[in-house]
Amino acid sequence: MRKLASIQRIKALEPIEGADAIEKATVLGWQLVVKKGEYQVGDLMVYCEIDSLLPERPEFEFMKPRGMRVRTIRLRGQVSQGICFPLSFLSDNFPVVEDADCTDELGIIKYEPPVPANLNGIAKGKFPSFISKTDETRVQVLQLILDKYKGQKCYISEKLDGSSTTYYIKDGEFVVCSRNLELIEDEENSFWKVARQLDIENKLRTLGGNFAIQGELMGEGIQSNKLRLKAQTIYVFNIFDIDKYEYLDFEKFCEVMKVLDLPVVPIITTEYELENDIEAIVKRSVIKSQLCKEVWAEGIVIRPMKEFNDFLLQEAGGNTRVSFKAINPEFLLKYGE
Ligand code: ATP
Ligand code: MN
Repeated sequence: MRKLASIQRIKALEPIEGADAIEKATVLGWQLVVKKGEYQVGDLMVYCEIDSLLPERPEFEFMKPRGMRVRTIRLRGQVSQGICFPLSFLSDNFPVVEDADCTDELGIIKYEPPVPANLNGIAKGKFPSFISKTDETRVQVLQLILDKYKGQKCYISEKLDGSSTTYYIKDGEFVVCSRNLELIEDEENSFWKVARQLDIENKLRTLGGNFAIQGELMGEGIQSNKLRLKAQTIYVFNIFDIDKYEYLDFEKFCEVMKVLDLPVVPIITTEYELENDIEAIVKRSVIKSQLCKEVWAEGIVIRPMKEFNDFLLQEAGGNTRVSFKAINPEFLLKYGE
């Protein structure tokens, strides 16, 4: 689980040009604006990430005009992501340990956007346990991964802001899933409509085994269709071998996708050597979409050319697959996230 609020240390404090009352703090790989003099470098405090929905308590009253939601903002030209609170916001008996999760302690939950009817569907069952769910951890909490795998050969794809989809075939049965559920076939449901339009069942059958493809459902009626696409389609980012419980390496993935003739998420580069620099990686995410050149991309996803796993990612709140995202701060500012 993602730690929305945790005990962290102020890593650095820097002045903001033209501002006397505020300064820039670095916490984990995040940068945020704090009141000048409120913290010193090395101080422990409570850090709340963007997407936190704060409870209606007197100490959080100041967030009411913002709907209690922690978002990306810009102050005096400085992008600010997250909020710091003093440790005194925790109850007296809460153990003060760096990195401790205090999301529940503070009554914080994650902001989730409402789901439109065409994406809801009727559940046939839970998401199958024999396939890995789609998820990407944020680079801002992965300093240890960057330290460890600096220089790794990676590829970068554009992160698309649609709806996660899994199509799989197992023991002859074709199944359609949204991010968290298996769905009953239904003409009104976008996941199923696209499956039929793109002939995904027959295409998956040609693979002659138990496989899943995972991608982002995009287009009209999905996440405001920011990229102004016509109709709906899916852009694939994973092929999963169910019997081996592993993802295909990028090269093999591309080969199979060519044969299946389905759209792949835009590939930005296949020649990226992982940098040990969160700020530089976030800068790389500030790009326009390859699917609509006038509009900000949501961000990027970075993955090694050869798949592997590391438990460090699980500690950071994700699954163990070495694969992570950087969300474009300009995208977040533009859409109020
Ligand atoms: P968070 O974990 O940050 O709270 P979240 O779990 O809702 O948020 P998203 O921001 O939606 O996650 O990011 C993960 C999702 O990104 C994946 O589930 C997948 O559906 C989607 N995605 C879009 N484009 C890509 C891509 N190019 N590669 C991998 N995943 C992608
Ligand atoms: Mn997630």
